[in-house]
Amino acid sequence: MAVKGLRWLAAGLFISILAVGGVCSAEGSKTVEVWKKLFTVVNGDGIDSNTTFLITREGVVVVDTRVTPMEADKVLKEIRKQTDLPILYTINTHYHGDHTFGNQVFKDSKAIIAHENVRKTLFGPSGKAHLDFFKTMDIPGMDETVITLPNIVFKDRMEIFVGGYNLRLIHARGHTDGDLFIYIQELKTIITGDLVFNGKIPYMGDAYVEDWISSLNYLDDFDAEIYIPGHGAPGGKPVFLAMRNYLLSLKGMVLNQLEEGKSLKETQDIVRPALTEKYKTWKNLDWLDANIERAYLEYNSK
Ligand SMILES: [Zn+2]
Repeated sequence: MAVKGLRWLAAGLFISILAVGGVCSAEGSKTVEVWKKLFTVVNGDGIDSNTTFLITREGVVVVDTRVTPMEADKVLKEIRKQTDLPILYTINTHYHGDHTFGNQVFKDSKAIIAHENVRKTLFGPSGKAHLDFFKTMDIPGMDETVITLPNIVFKDRMEIFVGGYNLRLIHARGHTDGDLFIYIQELKTIITGDLVFNGKIPYMGDAYVEDWISSLNYLDDFDAEIYIPGHGAPGGKPVFLAMRNYLLSLKGMVLNQLEEGKSLKETQDIVRPALTEKYKTWKNLDWLDANIERAYLEYNSK
């Protein structure tokens, strides 16, 4: 019971910190002190991907670098409002440009770290194609992006011990083939990357639905109270549970249609309204058809 009581206290503290913790706002974005010395920059111009930074007594760790050098510069300014300590490590949770195209601003950190598939995808022609794709989106400052690759990569997991923290970087495929999440035991916090979207239908352009569900089941094994998603506001366990429930709903509804031998279009016409009703408060509802297609193609081939 004592442990449970502490958890509720921590959750209460977390909510009050969030309520008063908006410390500043660059244009469009807002920096939230999620937990002591752990900040997340939410929203932003162009794309709403999150950047998180942890200030340790030795220096700063940055997770994800936003969509352009211009947006990354804003993050750097936010960091400098808090500390003059050096930026030690930069981590990319996956390869998507809205999490990596600001890397060049942090290239002087000791290392840019990611799963090996992130480097593979951003390297050479596939990286250029990804950047060209982002350049079609009319995002201010996109032309200044120079793809800056992770220079330390890993396969399954790695750990960083820095300034009194142990950061566990764990590969968990789902949103892409190179996702990682970061568990910070000392803060009972998981930085999920795009394995979790908060209040938004997730992007599934290169996702693996079944692996994604398995990865979230695995994530559930970690003792955490704070979840910092790739998009949307940080929050407690309900943020994580809502994402898993969304994927389970998508899977269940699509499987039902597949069992009845329905075509993709018939499946979309039945599942889209059902998911729209269930998730009507979420953003990106126009991505539902693409999500249904991704799940349909994956489970149809099993
Ligand atoms: Zn992504």
